[in-house]
Order: sequence, then structure tokens, then C-alpha cells
Amino acid sequence: MRNAGLGGWPARRAQMSPDRTAFVYADRPLSYAEVHERTTRLASRLRDAGVRAGDRVAYLGPNHVAFAETMFATHVLGGIFVPLNFRLAAPEIAYMLEHSGASVLVYAPECGAVVRDLPGLPGLRTVVALESPAEGERHYETWLSQGDPTPIDIPVALDDIALILYTSGTTGRPKGAMLSHANLVWNCFHIMIGVDVTSTEVTLISAPLFHVAALNQTLLPTFLKGGISVIMPSWDVDRCYDLIERHRVTWMFGVTAMFAALARSPRWPGADLSSLRTLMSGGAAIPVALIRAYQERGLVFCQGYGMTETAPGATFLEAGESVRKVGSAGVPVFFANVRVVRPDLTPVAPGEPGEVLVQGPNVTPGYWRDPEATAAALTEGGWFHSGDIATLDDEGHLHIVDRVKDMYISGGENVYPAEVEGVLFEHPAVVEAAVVGVPDDTWGEVGRAFVVPRPGVAVTPGEVRDFLRPRLAKYKIPVYVDVVDALPKTGSGKIRKPDLRRRPLPAGPEE
Ligand code: AMP
Repeated sequence: MRNAGLGGWPARRAQMSPDRTAFVYADRPLSYAEVHERTTRLASRLRDAGVRAGDRVAYLGPNHVAFAETMFATHVLGGIFVPLNFRLAAPEIAYMLEHSGASVLVYAPECGAVVRDLPGLPGLRTVVALESPAEGERHYETWLSQGDPTPIDIPVALDDIALILYTSGTTGRPKGAMLSHANLVWNCFHIMIGVDVTSTEVTLISAPLFHVAALNQTLLPTFLKGGISVIMPSWDVDRCYDLIERHRVTWMFGVTAMFAALARSPRWPGADLSSLRTLMSGGAAIPVALIRAYQERGLVFCQGYGMTETAPGATFLEAGESVRKVGSAGVPVFFANVRVVRPDLTPVAPGEPGEVLVQGPNVTPGYWRDPEATAAALTEGGWFHSGDIATLDDEGHLHIVDRVKDMYISGGENVYPAEVEGVLFEHPAVVEAAVVGVPDDTWGEVGRAFVVPRPGVAVTPGEVRDFLRPRLAKYKIPVYVDVVDALPKTGSGKIRKPDLRRRPLPAGPEE
């Protein structure tokens, strides 16, 4: 086989374990042989649509087996898969489709309204709807079933780009982090080493697949080992319990908000969780109280720290260490190096905070069509600047303590205040705006915007939110909006965000 990338996986797995179940979606199992056949048919249709090596195919929708099929089919042809966050608004999606130069878009019915709101994109030649295609669009299942099942073997190298994942940044527009096939494979190794994934695994895919964590911490390592991925369309506490019990799920990945919601549910005391052997949390530090609540049920957490650009694992805390090293994000993953440095790049002493740098075979080669952002993030020797501040303890364990980058995390989704502020500035009555993350019991953090109106112009918090709604994903809309006369500034004119974060919150969220 000349395809050394992910595109070769369904064929290899179909040879090794054709009858084993690869995916369960909507209670329907799909064997590895079926995944291979469907992926091949779909790849032939994408080839008919003009997709060649290096071309981009985008996917927009909640978790679905079509996500995995479209990704593998794209990789069969040596193409680049561009998964999009289905929570984004039409202008945000349009930017990503245009910037990536995607020629094909596959979308789920939940995103129909957003797709209809997209402006004309000349590069986008083929649009495929999972259901109810509009005029000129293809219907996914019909299109796929008429595809050619003859195996395709196109040369693909491990260093070829497999994914473009859009992440917002502290400046300007979102950036497309590129991950090669090799980056993904190395992260799969890291997970297989850390979580001890086996061929008898039943993995619940509970986090959104457009994010590298769900895709590459759970679905891909499970596929590589020939286990079963139970694909959950979108997060729902009751459905999560149903799937764990019905399919005897052995492990799952989630963010703090998900594990907290499970523990708060009335089903928590009576649920049969005996099949679970481990849980994995990531994206933000997990509170000790939650670790203890699960421990009382005999359930342990392994934890990961990382980011899209490191595919994503950078450090890992094994389940056996989660109590002794509580609060730590663990040690570097097996084949990567992590340094914590001062601004002059010299290493910190134990306990001294510094920026986390990561180097290794899982680290991105850079940002799509953005040499400036690439040069700023990757320094000599391939060290990636995380923008996170951490300390190292005397055993070399990492403790994340702060961020250099202006970002907060709401329910597992990163929000970059610069992006929200950029849209606030488009409001004709706004002269100044600043957004900060504030603590929230349910979401971890939520946004609070401070807005200074033009002199003599009245603007209300409700109007501000109405203005943001069609332009930004819901999770980015600040829960609190304060209309103020001025913003606190430093001598050099920089907004003092720590002061804004410390301001007392109103009695309740405004909506
Ligand atoms: P993303 O690129 O969406 O995966 O977001 C990556 C960012 O999430 C990191 O740079 C950190 O700021 C944050 N993050 C990820 N894992 C952890 C963790 N275990 N503890 C604290 N912050 C984390």
C-alpha cells in the first residue's frame, strides 16, 4: 500500500479485522469491512468531484459516522480534511471555507440554515447534504452508494498534511493549524501508551469531533487498535448514561463541564458504570472535588494538557498518579519534549512560572497560508510557544498556572477576547470595548464585555448582544455586558484586564 497516511487505515483494518465493529452510530453498528467499502465509494465520488492530493474537503456538523467516512475518503486521495466547528455563525464559517480554499463541503441538517446564509464562494464546487439537499447539492447517502468500490491506492507520505483545524487567536482572524499524518499517528501512540488502549475497547465519542481532542485522543487511537467507537451526536447527559450502559463503554474523554454535569444528574447514584475502566479529562484543569466524587465510585481520571497545535497531547498524567499529583497536568508525553522558560528562553527553576514550549513529532508544521503566524509560534529547533504559563515541581510535573495569551475557556470551547472585541468595534455606537473571562459554576468561565459608547449615544446591553448574535457563535457571546464611561488603562494606554476581571459581578447573569 502506497498510502502511508490515515487514508490507508480502513483498508488495513478491513484486512485485519473485517467483521469487528468499528463504529456504532444511532444504534447501528458498522464493521471495519463496511467502513472500508463506504470510504472507498465516497473517495471515488470525491475524485469525480475533482479532489486531488492536497485539495481541501470541509465538514460541518455534529458528530456523525459521516464525519469519519469523509475524513478517511479525503485521505485516500491524499486530500486535506477541514473539520469546522458547527457552533460558529455563517460569517465565521465563510471565512474558514474561503481561507482553506475548500472545494467540497459536507454538512449536516443542523447546519442547513448556516449553509444557506453563506455568501457565494467561487472555490466551493460541490456541496453534499447528509439530509434534504437544496437545489444543486448532492445527497450524501445516494452519492456515496453510487460510488465505485474498487480500492484506490494513491501515494501519501506521513509528512503530508492531513488536517487544517481553525483556532482563533489573540490577534486578527482565526488561524488554520496544520497537522500532518505523522503528527496524528504520534499522538495516537501517546494515547495508546498513556491510556493503554486495546482492541476490546468500547470508546464513547462524547466530545465534538471537529476538535482534535475527540478525534485524535479517542476515535483514531480506537480505530488503530481495532476497537469500537460509539459515536454520540451531541452532548446530552441522559444519552451519555444510556450509551455507557447499553454498549458497556470502557472509556471516554471529556471536559470538566461534562463530567460535572454527569455527577450532578439524578441518574448518578443509580447508573451502572461498572464497564468504565478509565476517564480522560483535558482542555482545562479538573477540580479536585470532582476527581474525589468519581473516585468514590471507583472511577479514576487520567489527564492531559495540550493544544490543537500539538495534536493535542503535550503532557499526560496517568490514572494511577491522579491523586498523588492532584492539580498537575503530568509529564511530557513519551516522544515529546516540554520546557518551561523565562522570557529570555532560559529554563525556570522548580516552582518558578514560565511559558510552556513543546517540541516533538506531534508538533504542527505551522499555520495554513500564514508564514507570519508560523514564524511567531515556532522558534528555532521546532519549539512551539503554547502561550500557557506553568511551573515545574521537583519531580518534573507540569502545573498550569496562567496564560500569556488572552483567552478563556467556556464549557470546553476557547474564546479569544480579541475576536469578540473586534466584532464589538464594528458596532457604530461603540468606541472602546474589552472582554474578559469570569468564573461560572456551569461553564467554568463565561464572557463579560465592557463597552464604552460614543459620547451622547445610548446603547443597552441587550442591543449589544443582539448585534453580536448573528456574527459570532453562541458560546462567544458575553453573558454579562457592562456599559461604562471609560476603561481602566495603564500608563502606556493598555487596558488593565486584571482590574476588569476583579470587578464584582452583578447578582445574576443578564440572560
Ligand atoms: P485547544 O487548542 O482548543 O486544544 O486549546 C488549548 C489550550 O487549552 C491550551 O493552550 C491551554 O490554555 C488550555 N488547556 C488544555 N489542557 C489544559 C489543562 N489540562 N489544564 C489547563 N489548561 C489546559
